[in-house]
Amino acid sequence: MLTQPDSDLARRVGEGTKGRNVIGGAPVMAQSGATLDVASPSDGAVFATIARSEAADVDAAVAAARAAFETGPWAKMAAAGRGRLLSRLGERIADHAGELAALESRDTGKPLRQGVADVTATERYFEYYGGAADKVHGEQIPFLDGYTALTMREPHGVVAGIIPWNYPLQILARVAGAALAMGNTLVIKPAEDASLTALRVAELALEAGFPDGVFNVVTGLGAEAGAALSAHPDVDYVTFTGSPATGTAIQAAAAQNNRGVTMELGGKSPQIVFADADLEAAMPVLVNAIIQNGGQTCSAGSRILIERPVYEDVASELAARFAALTAEPHWADADLGPLINARQAERVAGFVADARAAGIAVLAEGSVAADAPAGGHYQAPVLFGTVDPQSDLAREEVFGPVLSLFAFDGEDDAVRLANATDFGLVAGVWTKDGGRQHRMAKRVRAGQVYVNGYGAGGGIELPFGGFKRSGHGREKGFEALKDMSATKTVIFNHG
Ligand code: NAP
Ligand code: MG
Repeated sequence: MLTQPDSDLARRVGEGTKGRNVIGGAPVMAQSGATLDVASPSDGAVFATIARSEAADVDAAVAAARAAFETGPWAKMAAAGRGRLLSRLGERIADHAGELAALESRDTGKPLRQGVADVTATERYFEYYGGAADKVHGEQIPFLDGYTALTMREPHGVVAGIIPWNYPLQILARVAGAALAMGNTLVIKPAEDASLTALRVAELALEAGFPDGVFNVVTGLGAEAGAALSAHPDVDYVTFTGSPATGTAIQAAAAQNNRGVTMELGGKSPQIVFADADLEAAMPVLVNAIIQNGGQTCSAGSRILIERPVYEDVASELAARFAALTAEPHWADADLGPLINARQAERVAGFVADARAAGIAVLAEGSVAADAPAGGHYQAPVLFGTVDPQSDLAREEVFGPVLSLFAFDGEDDAVRLANATDFGLVAGVWTKDGGRQHRMAKRVRAGQVYVNGYGAGGGIELPFGGFKRSGHGREKGFEALKDMSATKTVIFNHG
């Protein structure tokens, strides 16, 4: 287990970094020479720069990935060899875990221990997919007399990964682990707000021995580098995590080239608390599922549906816990840190103001530490109840520390409310009744259903992805290896 870096390292790590793209095994500036400032959300201070890449840089990265896919040592490498490289990358990450955790924390504002948790998961992704690389194989299919038919799992080719800022390391690792295990090559576009750890991982991949051009990272703006990458005619597959609107734009771009996509587009995930639930066990999980990472989690448990007989008890216990929560700079390792940037902080504050104006009651508010730097993007946690299921607050992804409570009467009502948004990513069900556990797991439309637990972002072994507006395709676990490859059927006529 990684020991947590000290708060002093978290304040100064990465200072003065001039981040460069990693293309074809070499660190390079954007061809234009342009850069973007990197600020810490905790105080707003600029501490580093990254390359502001454009279409020409993306062209170079895709060309490097194409060359590595077609002709380099990667193209001839056995699956076991790819697995060994992935495992070695996991080890390199472990060697640099403290620095990476502190850097992730400074770049995104997340509390230090969340940075540690993210690095631990990142190591695990590479370990897991390192072990999986040579365990995926095709089948022999009984066919006509005189024939032998086989299936093979083939890589797509060049995979583009467009990564958000909320869990930059973890999401990079889940994309890269599965894509590289299957023999694809990669071009990663991290979010402009959180690119530093992706650049470090690409450097560590080179140190681990990945051939040049297999693991490329191009930083810049979504509308520039991101758009150029998703529309690139020589990209074979695009995987994206982020907002539904950007997902639509990326799918439209990939559709011009008729390329496949995986879309993980967030959620409005319910936790359903029945009157017979173990409330003592549920309570910290209900709070953590929305407070973790300041609520900036695709699988945040942002709606709590409570069976009416225990509504008042659960609401008042949650209110007491919310009132005690404090947002502080990442280095203080408090309940939550700042939000990622001023735009997100304004967006979340807008949801809160609109809900108040619509007359939705605030049951409790946490606080922002009095000494939190004025340049940071802080939002105190807010608990709303009872929320109108038709309101924006009930239906839209807020992506902040804002929790909504709803009351229900019985199973059918719980299912109706749980499924009443356009999203379907994760759900939690809290009940001791075994039959109800099974019925609810079946009836709730979500890519993952937890029973008597909840893991916001957890479980690298567990297939993950959405129904409805939450997207399509599955990541994590062995399931991701299917998305990151395609079946080739080979038919021998041997008479
Ligand atoms: P976003 O636009 O979806 O950004 C996610 C990624 O897509 C970033 O790397 C972004 O680059 C890139 N991107 C943006 N526009 C693009 C385009 N036209 N073509 C290709 N790539 C593009 O998310 P956001 O604007 O940062 O956040 C807005 C909302 O999205 C949040 O409030 C939240 O509701 C949701 N969100 C969800 C998740 C999730 O895990 N499901 C993660 C992040 C955000 P740049 O950042 O460099 O522009
Ligand atoms: Mg930043």
